[in-house]
Amino acid sequence: MSRYWSDIVSTLRPYVAGEQPRIPGLVKLNTNENPYGPSPKALEAIGQAADDRLRLYPDPAATELREAIAARFGLTAEEVFVGNGSDEVLAHTFQALLKHDLPLLYPDVTYSFYPTYSLLYGIEAVEIPVDDKFQIRLADYDRPCGAIIIPNPNAPTGIGLPLAGIEALLAAHPDAVVVVDEAYVDFGGESAVPLISAHPNLLVIQTLSKSRSFAGLRVGFALGHRDLIEALVRVKDSFNSYPLDCLAQLAATAAIKDDAWFDACRGKIIATRESLVRELQALDFEVLPSQANFVFARHQSQPGAALQAALRERHVLVRQFAKPRISDFLRISIGTDEECTRLISALKEIL
Ligand code: PMP
Repeated sequence: MSRYWSDIVSTLRPYVAGEQPRIPGLVKLNTNENPYGPSPKALEAIGQAADDRLRLYPDPAATELREAIAARFGLTAEEVFVGNGSDEVLAHTFQALLKHDLPLLYPDVTYSFYPTYSLLYGIEAVEIPVDDKFQIRLADYDRPCGAIIIPNPNAPTGIGLPLAGIEALLAAHPDAVVVVDEAYVDFGGESAVPLISAHPNLLVIQTLSKSRSFAGLRVGFALGHRDLIEALVRVKDSFNSYPLDCLAQLAATAAIKDDAWFDACRGKIIATRESLVRELQALDFEVLPSQANFVFARHQSQPGAALQAALRERHVLVRQFAKPRISDFLRISIGTDEECTRLISALKEIL
């Protein structure tokens, strides 16, 4: 192999996705999927569209979907960008950030795709440590930068930043792009979308994978000033001009319009989360305050890796990270009440 190609193997640290084992009866609480399934109207849309239309290429601009998203958020379609999951939207965002000569800032701890994309695209990134309560300290972002990216709520902690904090960042950095990754915002966080009209440097990224239960469909989107969106379109068109296949466009359009299903599912998840937090605390877990569809919890005496392995033996899958600062935490996705009861029973056996 040429030296250049072997350099890739030695320098890149690809993102490691949570495992997706197909084990019957497994309580799968490791990748923040939504236990309630997508909108039945969206599934019906896929069924109806799976016909001769698939002969044709999809709409390269995903117009109908962008219009539906724009209508939901009180924006115009020119303020909406769509991609194959928010991971792809993030990839295009990082590629666009390459044009900056100042560093990109993001928290440490955060979504582990950010360091991966920074390495892949050769972006100079500065990681800003969270404080001893795993909170983002805004004063630490008071330094020259080309862009800031913050998940709100943060991952994998689940801790949300109040909107005033995002507003302060935007005001302090008018020449930088502030990207707010709102993958989990629908479970109790405060969305920054209302700030878009006053802040042309704000890009908000959301996904249908969590609150809309469409992780397998791969649809994510970015909202922001039309100039930011146009920059993403230029990147996308230089890369692959089809953002989404036909079925994804139709299903996502139906899902975005189905508010009743969306509200019912996220309401159940929030209620289950609150009771799970109490049960974990009763078992001597410290649980970080979560506004997401997962909780991040560490036991007072048991190491995280041992607990994760013991749960796995009992067919309950949760996520544990190797990073030393958080290795004693378990990230537990909120399942149905029954699934959370099985988790608690397994923990009672182990502890
Ligand atoms: N952002 C954050 C913070 C996430 O945790 C995830 C899910 N792993 C994503 C983005 C990507 O989600 P998706 O690509 O499924 O939209």
